[in-house]
Amino acid sequence: MSCALCDLPTPNPPVTDPEVAGEYCCQGCLAVARTVEDLTADGCDSGESAGHCPGDAGG
Ligand SMILES: [Zn+2]
Repeated sequence: MSCALCDLPTPNPPVTDPEVAGEYCCQGCLAVARTVEDLTADGCDSGESAGHCPGDAGG
């Protein structure tokens, strides 16, 4: 398996979290994935520009 975030090979056992889907190479990648999942789970449907929600931006 490879890290779901950075694609590096995962250790054995891989770094996982019951709240986060996928397997990761380190706690750092897992932490980032948790943050990203939290952002994408906000209801934003855009897949190309991550972190930008059209309509939700104040600008
Ligand atoms: Zn990684």
